[in-house]
Amino acid sequence: MNVASLLKAKGRAVATASADQTLLDIASALAHKKIGAIVILGESGDVAGIISERDLVKAIATGGAAMLERPVGEAMTRDVISCSEDQTMEELMEIMTKGRFRHVPVYSDGKLSGIISIGDVVKNHIAEVEMEVSAMRDYLATG
Ligand code: AMP
Repeated sequence: MNVASLLKAKGRAVATASADQTLLDIASALAHKKIGAIVILGESGDVAGIISERDLVKAIATGGAAMLERPVGEAMTRDVISCSEDQTMEELMEIMTKGRFRHVPVYSDGKLSGIISIGDVVKNHIAEVEMEVSAMRDYLATG
């Protein structure tokens, strides 16, 4: 399975916000959408950063609750690692494991075309393992 096939099955919606929105806006959006990260867009619409629940926890732990009124640009990660649609799920797992993060924005033709979370990767992996087990059972039953 590659990234394109997974996006076809799960959809291409990406939750985004702008860098001047507050951390409280981000916390509300994460809670409301039941997701773990939001991609931050710059004025030109390009990806300017990514903010995850982990960044929010860190900001509050270091700056207190007052941080919730600060702009997301102060807490987001600017150096965003992305992937392309032709990459495999194995490659994505490696990117996430090496980078120690759980979200990877996807680019196609230079444009943001989706996002894959570790939840998507695990769900896909379980489905593949279940298919293998089922095929093995069929083989043993009929062989
Ligand atoms: P996460 O595991 O996704 O909650 O993110 C852990 C940390 O990595 C946070 O500081 C995020 O801002 C950062 N992060 C998440 N995704 C990416 C990514 N694709 N590229 C770079 N940093 C990321």
